[in-house]
Amino acid sequence: MIIKPTDNGREIPWIDDWLRPVVRLHQSPGTPARADSHSGGPMLWPSDEPWPHCDGSSHGTGYDLTAEQVELVRGRSTPFTGAMQLYRRDFPELPFPDGTDLLQVFLCLLEHEEIYGPDVHLVWRAAGEVTDPLAEPPLPEVVDPVYAIWPCVFTPCRSHEYPMHYEIPHELLYELEFAQAPDFRGGPVECWPGHGDSTKIGGWTRWYRGMPGGETCPDCGALRVQMLALASSENECPACDRPEGKAGWRLDGRDDTVNVFACPKDPRHALWVDIQ
Ligand SMILES: [Zn+2]
Ligand SMILES: [Zn+2]
Repeated sequence: MIIKPTDNGREIPWIDDWLRPVVRLHQSPGTPARADSHSGGPMLWPSDEPWPHCDGSSHGTGYDLTAEQVELVRGRSTPFTGAMQLYRRDFPELPFPDGTDLLQVFLCLLEHEEIYGPDVHLVWRAAGEVTDPLAEPPLPEVVDPVYAIWPCVFTPCRSHEYPMHYEIPHELLYELEFAQAPDFRGGPVECWPGHGDSTKIGGWTRWYRGMPGGETCPDCGALRVQMLALASSENECPACDRPEGKAGWRLDGRDDTVNVFACPKDPRHALWVDIQ
């Protein structure tokens, strides 16, 4: 059941203006093909197109790497690992640019400075144009052992979610009774439910360590919005009551959910990755 935030039990008149659609992906281990939406399975990639590489300029010391491995990856170009494919027919909610019908999500499974985790690379593609798919993608020489991805299929669950109160502008928030209480320091409150972990499209961010900020698109100045969350654990789903379970990857270096913010004007503008 989706729990509506309240002001110490009283209804907040504007709260439903803040509902956002969300698609929780609900991963289960499987054997997906290139033609499927999946996480961790084979990617539909043209054999005559260079496989995407992270340039390595922000590779850090990692979480569980030997000194030798750190030397090996520092400043070194590294092949991305295919993490997820989302076809338009399955997820029309995604902002597919004209002429594209497949979103491919790649991760560089090393620690990156400033992100403190895997870097994200997105490719928006027209699946029908791939006539000769690559059979064997290049593999990274070194992966930080705190990260792992395994093949999964999705059981999508469509719903809506409310933001955490950190997202609410102060002029609205501080009209509420709970926010005026002398002991309110901006942290979690009982009348405003937090977010569980889930891998999802859309919805709101589960802020845990940081707070909203830095979402301005450097290409056009628009405010980037949460488009994908890749979570390392799954709490019970508030919409379909799917029990707590395992996710399709382990991405827990410093924290465990990789949030991808995209520009609403054009999702090919620079991404913002925030790991919470
Ligand atoms: Zn990298
Ligand atoms: Zn932009």
